[in-house]
Amino acid sequence: MSYTLNNKLKNLVPYSPIEGQYEIRLDANESFITPSDELISKIKEAIGKVEFNRYPDPYAKKVCRLFSEFYGLDANFVTAGNGSDELISIIITSFLTSEDKLLVLEPDFSMYKFYAQLCSVCVVDIIKDDNFLISADDIIKTIVREKPRCIIFSNPCNPASTGITAKDVKRIIASTDSLVIVDEAYMDFWDESVLGEINNFDNLIVLKTCSKALGFASIRLGFAVAQSKITKAIRAAKSPYNVNSLTQTVGEVVFSEPSKLSDNIEKIIDSRDYLYKNFLSLSSKYSELEQVIKPNTNFIFVKCKNPLVIFEALKEKGIIIRCMPPYLRITAGSDFENNELIKEISKILENKIE
Ligand SMILES: *Cc1c(COP(=O)(O)O)cnc(C)c1O
Repeated sequence: MSYTLNNKLKNLVPYSPIEGQYEIRLDANESFITPSDELISKIKEAIGKVEFNRYPDPYAKKVCRLFSEFYGLDANFVTAGNGSDELISIIITSFLTSEDKLLVLEPDFSMYKFYAQLCSVCVVDIIKDDNFLISADDIIKTIVREKPRCIIFSNPCNPASTGITAKDVKRIIASTDSLVIVDEAYMDFWDESVLGEINNFDNLIVLKTCSKALGFASIRLGFAVAQSKITKAIRAAKSPYNVNSLTQTVGEVVFSEPSKLSDNIEKIIDSRDYLYKNFLSLSSKYSELEQVIKPNTNFIFVKCKNPLVIFEALKEKGIIIRCMPPYLRITAGSDFENNELIKEISKILENKIE
């Protein structure tokens, strides 16, 4: 006799982030900006006051309030999660059943399908065009035809860095009574948020995270924003103490200096633009680089003839990026990191790949 895993677990492909030590990490869309010494001191001081023998605040009220102030929201509409990833997991596994369909756009963040598979939800996908765009009309038509219980997409999107305008997202939400989850993990880099629409739609959830623009991937802190009926349900479905006290404490410090956060976002956008411009000029010089997608996030997406060759050659030099054949996804880094990357990739292209 031996134990048999069920089929959904047997076929589950785990998300495999790149591990190991690399001098330059441009693979995970993190911020390249590290907290100032002053911020680090504040964090240490705050952590000194944590009651380590006590459970955390189950609703992370203080950090939710500070997050809400930063984005101009009603804190009653906010639930904190152990990263927005946890919130995606909670929402998909509790708002959908195995009879329901989940509509996703393709390509998009792989975890949406992953959690759908875990709860045996049927996934319907709409394929984006060659420029990774998709019209609101196509999405609305598919919703009418497939009647999904829920639609989820990242905006602007990971991995292509393209986006759907707020006007179009609003049209999609207004067209349906299905749940619409807009993952705005990268919206701090673009100006088409629907966070301000929360009061107008009772079928909308917007997801946010501290991992990207805010530069705190280490603490695992994300937020779901929705009207009361949905927020109550998310809070009921989550585990009681899902955000630990250390994370809540650091998060409170992070949101206590909103102007610093906005300055950092500007710096990251400048870095992204620098990388984009340099890749455009490389692509005009070398036919190896076939297409550089116009970015709306903190990373660029580049179509190549031999992406794996470039990926491996950069890795040899201690530079790690993401390879998603036929594309490379490269996170905007510090000036030093960007220039090293551009220098090394220029050498690789110059030495000719074929
Ligand atoms: C990185 C990312 C997340 C995950 O955010 P966490 O808060 O770190 O879990 C969610 N959605 C998208 C589209 C992402 O790229």
